Amino acid sequence: MSKGTINISTENIFPIIKRFLYSDHEIFLRELISNATDATLKLKHLFSIGEAKGEYGAPIIEVKIDKKKKTLHIIDQGIGMTEEEIKKYINEIAFSGAEEFVEKYKDKIEDSGIIGHFGLGFYSSFMVSDNVEIITKSFKKGSQAVHWQCDGSPNYTIKKSDKKDRGTEIILHIDKDSEEFLEEQRITELLTKYNRFMPIPIKFGTREETKTEGEGEDAKEEKIVVDNIINNPNPAWTKKPAKLKDEDYQSFYRELYPMQFEEPLFHIHLNVDYPFHLTGILYFPKITRNIDIQKDRIQLYQNQVFVTDNVEGIVPDFLQMLRGVIDSPDIPLNVSRSYLQSDAAVKKISGYITKKVADKLISIFKKDRKDFEKKWEDIKIIIEYGMLSEEKFFKKAQNFALYPTVDDTFYTMDELKDKIKDLQTDKEGNLIVLYASDKEKQHSYIETAKTKGYEVLLLDSPIVSHLIQKLESENEKLKFARVDADFIDNLIKKEDTKISKLSDDEKSKLETIIKDVVPSETYTVQMEALDSSENPFIITQPEFMRRYKEMSQTGGGMMGMGNLPDAYNLIVNTNNPLMDKILKAKKNKEKYVNQALDLAKLSQNLLTGKEMTDFIKRSYDLMK
Ligand code: ADP
Repeated sequence: MSKGTINISTENIFPIIKRFLYSDHEIFLRELISNATDATLKLKHLFSIGEAKGEYGAPIIEVKIDKKKKTLHIIDQGIGMTEEEIKKYINEIAFSGAEEFVEKYKDKIEDSGIIGHFGLGFYSSFMVSDNVEIITKSFKKGSQAVHWQCDGSPNYTIKKSDKKDRGTEIILHIDKDSEEFLEEQRITELLTKYNRFMPIPIKFGTREETKTEGEGEDAKEEKIVVDNIINNPNPAWTKKPAKLKDEDYQSFYRELYPMQFEEPLFHIHLNVDYPFHLTGILYFPKITRNIDIQKDRIQLYQNQVFVTDNVEGIVPDFLQMLRGVIDSPDIPLNVSRSYLQSDAAVKKISGYITKKVADKLISIFKKDRKDFEKKWEDIKIIIEYGMLSEEKFFKKAQNFALYPTVDDTFYTMDELKDKIKDLQTDKEGNLIVLYASDKEKQHSYIETAKTKGYEVLLLDSPIVSHLIQKLESENEKLKFARVDADFIDNLIKKEDTKISKLSDDEKSKLETIIKDVVPSETYTVQMEALDSSENPFIITQPEFMRRYKEMSQTGGGMMGMGNLPDAYNLIVNTNNPLMDKILKAKKNKEKYVNQALDLAKLSQNLLTGKEMTDFIKRSYDLMK
């Protein structure tokens, strides 16, 4: 046996590392299994180029717990190490790697934004153990197995071992504070979290399986004990898209999110080699009002090792509602998120993902428009958000962003413009797009617009006011107006051919009567000579006030406007026969005005409480 001292300058990096990764001790297992995987893949490579002789076999990695001895074992059948290699790779590289890591991050201990803590490697085993052994035998012909042991201080021992098979066994003597890692359940949890898709099979104990022998009546069921392999070494994203069917993507989705019962709407397979490596599969889930976006998020992997499910900075914000996997060795993981966002490679990755998603949407739209229309309701939030936040996406979305009408006809912006250009252009040459946000509440306004032959869109997502603002700024002479923003002929102004049945004198008399009754803090009275068939009173909410208010409530727009009280216009149709009646009435003038006002409120869903009770009572009175 020989003893040695590891040559590191920081006297004891161990306590620093413990503190640094305090909340994240569990990553040691991922690091050790990654090493075991690397060792196995290296061996596979050596076989493939003829540098290793003998049998590669079907190597697996085994994880074992010995509760009595309080040890956790990670055993691989990879390349192993000779004594020289241990000295070089473990004593020098692993320790200096850890030292370097600490040097770099000791000032940033509080920066929990560092993703994954990759790079600590083998040394992370000391976060959970007070003593670590390595028993290893190199694949090289005739090499002597060795046994290394160390307590995390710079002192180690090394001696010969009688290990027969090629590969490495790491034995962790779990310390008092970390005994959770001797629990089967905890280890299973970690293995499924970090290693579910690693490329080498990982065995953790055994399980019983029922095997059926023979067929029909002679069939016999037999219980057999098999290795409990916890991972799928060939997950769908590592395969070529041409080799996968829709069902394969669906079943991978269920594998990723076993608790999700809803089928995804569609998937996007990512696959680039240049200028960075990235593979993955993204899914569009059904976005419902109560979707929990904190749950079942996109998972980030590095060479099939789970890193995190917080992809902020890597995937553009608007796509974080998607699900699935991205795997890239080119995303720097030892950096804080704020750094990540400024990293050029990461920016390219984010841009690539945006482009891929847009291209896929274009192709689905072209391939099966009807199906796309059916799914629109479920995906519009993501697309509208993307159009607002990424200029490039906005441009591409011109090909597939849909604008449904209240009668479920779906137009693209170009189709819509073409459809309405004859009827809905006003005298100044503006193209007016009418929309509703609620079919029920705005029913009478929608109907009035329809009798004129106008198209009315149904735009009801929460960010629609921002989208409209954006569309107006991108399209010259395009204006949006909600159907209840004004009376219809004022929304789309054509020729001024209004003839008033009332004289100016009568008009001003009428205005005085009405203003006496109608509360001026809520309603601005506006006298208009409309068609006699149109309602006497129409309540409208001016487009811009309302839109800015909505924008302010959903972020952006003018600050503070969200708190303004609602302001309405009361349009009085001076040509409606009721006006004559009000002017000529000997008594009940006030009653008629109130009644007409309440009816107008009723059609805007503004009549509630005492006002409603008074209205009902007055209605019966008037019938007497
Ligand atoms: P990294 O894996 O980032 O290189 P580590 O500290 O994890 O750093 O490991 C240092 C080195 O020790 C590895 O590069 C590898 O050469 C060697 N090593 C670690 N674990 C094993 C193993 N299970 N089998 C063979 N070699 C190993």
